[in-house]
Amino acid sequence: MIEIEDLAAKYPGRKLPVLQGVNLQLKRGETVLLLGASGSGKSTLGLTLNGLIPHEVGSILNGQIHVDGLNTQQTTVAELARRVGIVFQDPDAQFATLTVEDEIVFGLENLCLPPSEMEERMLRALAQVGLPEHRYRRVDQLSGGEKQRIALAALLAMEPQVLVFDEPTANLDPIGTRDVFALIRECKVQTTHTIVLIEHKLDDLMDLIDRVIVLGPGGSLIADGTPRAIFRDSSAVLREYGIWMPQ
Ligand code: ADP
Ligand code: MG
Repeated sequence: MIEIEDLAAKYPGRKLPVLQGVNLQLKRGETVLLLGASGSGKSTLGLTLNGLIPHEVGSILNGQIHVDGLNTQQTTVAELARRVGIVFQDPDAQFATLTVEDEIVFGLENLCLPPSEMEERMLRALAQVGLPEHRYRRVDQLSGGEKQRIALAALLAMEPQVLVFDEPTANLDPIGTRDVFALIRECKVQTTHTIVLIEHKLDDLMDLIDRVIVLGPGGSLIADGTPRAIFRDSSAVLREYGIWMPQ
């Protein structure tokens, strides 16, 4: 589903690359936990998957990324958006409209669907995240956990093959966090999404994780394996860099 070859990424005005020498292949349906110290390039790696880097940030990217066979550097952001959805830490940054309904339809407008299918997809996505009664609500009046659910619904309506969760619970209280974790679990059970999770403190979800990859301080991958192998063999390295490990 995802093939990354010798990826290097650099932001403008910065001397050192954020990512370098990253090689990674993710299989369809795989659920991967991406760990790394703060600033190690986790979010940047997520953004390269849906083409926001290099297309929008004015950044530089070397190497190759293919998503579902498409070279991301030769594909528009709109084309990639229907394949890769990212849930961010701050859903407000993603919201573009006033109401829940508009928010979900907004993303669908690029897909040139007949209106009846747009509505069908919108209703299905709302049901999937358990908020069908929120259709006409204003997004700015929802709780943090509800906002994340709507952000996810907007992505699910696009029927992406890859979902990236970039610290979606960082701003949530324990109840909101539990909510979002339950949703991630449902995504995993209901679908064949390839899921990249950037999270820590996710003891409750460890049973979903097929594979753990770890970004080191230089922006290269320093570990890649099953959770069992990584937390057994790389625990000294993880501790050295202050990277989360399950209890
Ligand atoms: P993580 O998600 O692991 O905390 P990020 O990918 O957000 O790491 O950031 C990696 C590095 O790139 C950090 O040093 C960060 O300050 C820098 N960075 C992130 N976004 C930008 C940007 N838009 N412009 C310049 N530097 C950035
Ligand atoms: Mg980040």
